[in-house]
Amino acid sequence: MDLGITGRKAIVCAASKGLGRACAEALAAEGVEIVLNARDAAVLKQTADEIAATHHVTVTPVAGDLSTPEGRAALLAACPAPDILINNAGGPPPGDYRSWSDDDWQQAVATNMLTPVALIKAFADGMQERKFGRIVNITSSVVRHPIDAQGLSAAARSGLHGFVATIVRGLAAHNVTVNNLLPGPFATDRLLSNFAFRAKREGSSVDEVVAARKAELPARRFGDPAELGRFCAYLCSAQAGYVSGQSILLDGAAHPQIF
Ligand code: NAP
Repeated sequence: MDLGITGRKAIVCAASKGLGRACAEALAAEGVEIVLNARDAAVLKQTADEIAATHHVTVTPVAGDLSTPEGRAALLAACPAPDILINNAGGPPPGDYRSWSDDDWQQAVATNMLTPVALIKAFADGMQERKFGRIVNITSSVVRHPIDAQGLSAAARSGLHGFVATIVRGLAAHNVTVNNLLPGPFATDRLLSNFAFRAKREGSSVDEVVAARKAELPARRFGDPAELGRFCAYLCSAQAGYVSGQSILLDGAAHPQIF
């Protein structure tokens, strides 16, 4: 299917690796120009060069920490009028809620709630005027299926979902959509670091935790980041203009539910 977005411009946040990179790859494959962000400038440049070489599109790396006003200002300067915004960031660390300080809470809320809110605020009006906008927030399955030790993530991301639910109706008539993608376990560095935490807590090895986790999953495997990337590209397509305000779980049926 031709997604109808060739020549569009996308900002893809936190995208030198993992799920963000997979979204950038899938959009680049559709001929979308990419502004790519992450903090480590060297890794980011290498990823940008690889995506540009593979998909023959312009990929502009903009290094910076998105949880800071300076990091967001650099993105705005590099791409003031994106057609597509993929909000993503590193997730808060897992832990025991008794050990989290006010600073831990503030960092989680700043990174996983206030940053996407600020970027939506910066870009949604322009999208509305241009009559095309696709915003996808990569959040987590923990907002639907809480996991012990992921309280910082569940709380900050639930706040973002609440905000999104209040703005989608105002944007719909202007062909601007906002959707949330809720990944279950996808094979990325982030997932492995969470398993390291679990292995330490349980006194087992990371390999044992990985094998046990896969055995628990209905699909018996982790998600491939490319699967999420392509789903994200569809949500950014011309054809997906009637899909908005949705929180879509990508977890291989791990969360039992009827609706
Ligand atoms: P990942 O493989 O660790 O990649 C994270 C990316 O984000 C890297 O490119 C990293 O680069 C960048 N980044 C992190 N913090 C940033 C910041 N403050 N500003 C700019 N860039 C930043 O992680 P992932 O697995 O793709 O996860 C992406 C998001 O999905 C996270 O929020 C994670 O919690 C969530 N999630 C993942 C899974 C999963 O199974 N993988 C499941 C549920 C939810 P730098 O370090 O260079 O900045």
